[in-house]
Amino acid sequence: MNLQELPVLFQRGSVRRLTARVTAKGLVVRAPARMSSVQVETWLRQIRPKLERRLARTPFHLIHVPHEMSGGASVRLLDTLFQILCEEKPRSSVRVLADTIYLKGPSDLKRKRALERWCIRRLHEEAEPLARTFAKQLDVSFEKLLIRSYRSRLGACSSDGKLQLHWGIIFLPRVYREAIIAHEVAHIRAPHHQADFWKTVEELAPGAHGLHSDLRKIGPFLFF
Ligand SMILES: [Zn+2]
Repeated sequence: MNLQELPVLFQRGSVRRLTARVTAKGLVVRAPARMSSVQVETWLRQIRPKLERRLARTPFHLIHVPHEMSGGASVRLLDTLFQILCEEKPRSSVRVLADTIYLKGPSDLKRKRALERWCIRRLHEEAEPLARTFAKQLDVSFEKLLIRSYRSRLGACSSDGKLQLHWGIIFLPRVYREAIIAHEVAHIRAPHHQADFWKTVEELAPGAHGLHSDLRKIGPFLFF
């Protein structure tokens, strides 16, 4: 992927300085309300090499997610490559037969939401038992596991005993999903990122620590 292929989403508002982020939606540029377009364009030309370098380092091979959830698109989730067939119907539904996802609904957005709900259920079915197994190994417990739609994080562990995961991790290969779940369960024991925390993560999912640098790079592409 290179910058030319990315849609640019330009937002003006109450921000104090210019920012540009590469996300699943495209290049998101935020500019202060009073800044001239010439200034914005000059700045974008300056930071372009840096953004190009960041894109070149992003491990896109880890995910296969279409820009649009339209008919004929393919998507890899839970390590299986599915073809999506869309149909305009008044009611939303998701049906999976072999490697085809039949996605019905009144609009692109409604179909996307239906698929998101389906992913949340499927990811929960996989993640809950795995998180329980990890917790048992550490002799700790958690109240429940929630799958939600986060805007900028892949998971969380709150002090009231709830583990939370971003639904978009369903697009990652299983070893990466395990690394994220091990990370959140390890936080029950250690609410920090110091050496003993990473030792615990490694106990649960050997090799998981090393996968985190990929996760930091691919993470921004898992928020839709
Ligand atoms: Zn953490």
